Amino acid sequence: MKKESLILVVEDESSIADNVLISLKSEGFRCKHVSLAQDAVDVVKSDAVSLIVLDVGLPDFTGFEACKEIRKFSRVPIIFLTARGEEIDRVVGLEIGADDYMTKPFSPRELVARVKLRLRDFEQVESTDKDSESNDEFMIDETRKTITFQGVVLELTVFEFGILKALLGQPERVFSREQLIASVRDMPEVVLARAVDNHIKTLRAKLKDIDNSDSPIKTHRGLGYSIRL
Ligand code: CA
Repeated sequence: MKKESLILVVEDESSIADNVLISLKSEGFRCKHVSLAQDAVDVVKSDAVSLIVLDVGLPDFTGFEACKEIRKFSRVPIIFLTARGEEIDRVVGLEIGADDYMTKPFSPRELVARVKLRLRDFEQVESTDKDSESNDEFMIDETRKTITFQGVVLELTVFEFGILKALLGQPERVFSREQLIASVRDMPEVVLARAVDNHIKTLRAKLKDIDNSDSPIKTHRGLGYSIRL
């Protein structure tokens, strides 16, 4: 992990912000602190931010909205801080492109551990630049986290990307829902097995938009899913 990493902390409660900043700085990180969502978007545009710790409840607009805005131009890792423990919020957070989340109250030490983990993951992805796999129909671009189907880039959520990538990794293999959940980073604790069915459904719809013939993804009743060779 690079110690010169710049962490952007977006938090309007000064006591929480102070704790987070102290913990990160004590580990040698450079930090920048803002209290507004718009400021966060602006900083990501202007500075080389390595990771964002992003509060959901902000005075101007929500962290979710800020995340959506940032994802239009940056893949910088984002860890949400949320006061709401509702599963739906966590799932929404991950689906709109966050990499991790922590529910308040949280331990600053655990946050620092997650920051390090996300930075390491991100740097590994970056270092495998241009390392892409392909078969006839699909092409995975690890760096851009995109999958191309018959030459068309699919617009995928984090989960859809993870599921499709897992299936493509071993064509014809039948994956259970649980195995698909396990193959997607961070999915286990937040996603129910039946949610996989929904992700498969939306994935199929996206593939069908490109090719209206038989879906490459097969359902194996009671067992799970596979993708054709
Ligand atoms: Ca707040």
